[in-house]
Amino acid sequence: MNRLILALILVLNVTGTAAVAQDLAALARVLPQGTTLRDRGDGVELRLRLSQAVPYRVFTLDQPKRLILDFNEVDWSGFDPATFGQSARITDLRVGVVRPGLSRMVLDLGAALAVKTAGLSAPPGQPATVLLQLAATSDAEYAANAGAPADAFAQPAPTSPAVTHPRQTGERPLVVVLDPGHGGIDPGAERDGVIEAELILTFARELKEILLRTGDFKVELTREGDVFVPLEARVSFARQAGADVFVSLHADALVVGRATGSTVYTLSDTATDVASQKLAERHDRGDLLAGVDLRNQDDVIAKVLMDMARTETAPRSDKLATALVDGLRATVGVRKRPHLAAGFSVLKAPDIPSVLLELGFLSSPRDLKRLRDPEWRQSAAIGIRNALQAWARQDAADALLLRK
Ligand SMILES: [Zn+2]
Repeated sequence: MNRLILALILVLNVTGTAAVAQDLAALARVLPQGTTLRDRGDGVELRLRLSQAVPYRVFTLDQPKRLILDFNEVDWSGFDPATFGQSARITDLRVGVVRPGLSRMVLDLGAALAVKTAGLSAPPGQPATVLLQLAATSDAEYAANAGAPADAFAQPAPTSPAVTHPRQTGERPLVVVLDPGHGGIDPGAERDGVIEAELILTFARELKEILLRTGDFKVELTREGDVFVPLEARVSFARQAGADVFVSLHADALVVGRATGSTVYTLSDTATDVASQKLAERHDRGDLLAGVDLRNQDDVIAKVLMDMARTETAPRSDKLATALVDGLRATVGVRKRPHLAAGFSVLKAPDIPSVLLELGFLSSPRDLKRLRDPEWRQSAAIGIRNALQAWARQDAADALLLRK
């Protein structure tokens, strides 16, 4: 099993207890001096200088080809990819935080490269150096060795017991899980200095306040800060929170089409249009960027069970989408075709009515201006609040009818 080179290094500092405590408290920083990427013709050499040694690991992923370097943990603020060096075989490079305790560097590979050697040296009292030697390999060899390791920087895995949460009948507060899209290493769309991940977290907090004021809702957010949350984890979070509804919030930039206005998406195998399809692909790419691969998650039996649950949930999601369109139309207006369908992974909870709301599109100058305006956002939040109240009443009445 030559599938990964795993290196976990425990560092003992011998300069005194106070210094040890300090070093452990401070994150390792990347030192620009001596941090280089070089294409040597026969291979690529990557050298990272760190203020202190930290556990790290390296592995490759296929389709698309990526090299992942994980650290436990590194402060990237002193790192500038522009001065790092270049190689035609490294087409792009990103760094960021996957979650507390796990910092990641992702290199997009333009060619099949294998990790020939990987090592960390840390002379006493001096900065540490991580040195990787990459060598050309065949596509077949690359594919055979690619794959993410079992999580060495273990965190308790999210347990997802098959909790059956009773359908709401209006006798208790409606549990709303708001899912601010993107975060951390995946900032989402960006226009004129406005970052989707930030903007939408602000809106989620504002919306939460407005919902809580009614006393009709219990509200949870899938992320509270600028952290990366895998799509699958967002869905299991909703299930564990006992969500009655799941609303994923976004403000994307569209590559195709010139959409403007709020749009509500529900899950479908076939996208309503090309723009919806592209949007769904881009959202799923956020997980690819972070190295999480969900392609083999469903086996046949699980799929059948999920399809059965979806048959019951899909009409409830559709009604939720209709309510949201009505609510937003009455306060801030909506897109011309306000309810669309696409295969967003985040909407795949089979048993929770789920929608993805594009509050507006950062690619539209008009939307951008509105999204930045706190008053506009408040009106939008009120529209959503009204929609959730109307939907909850109708949904409870439907549930009671089914019981009889
Ligand atoms: Zn988005």
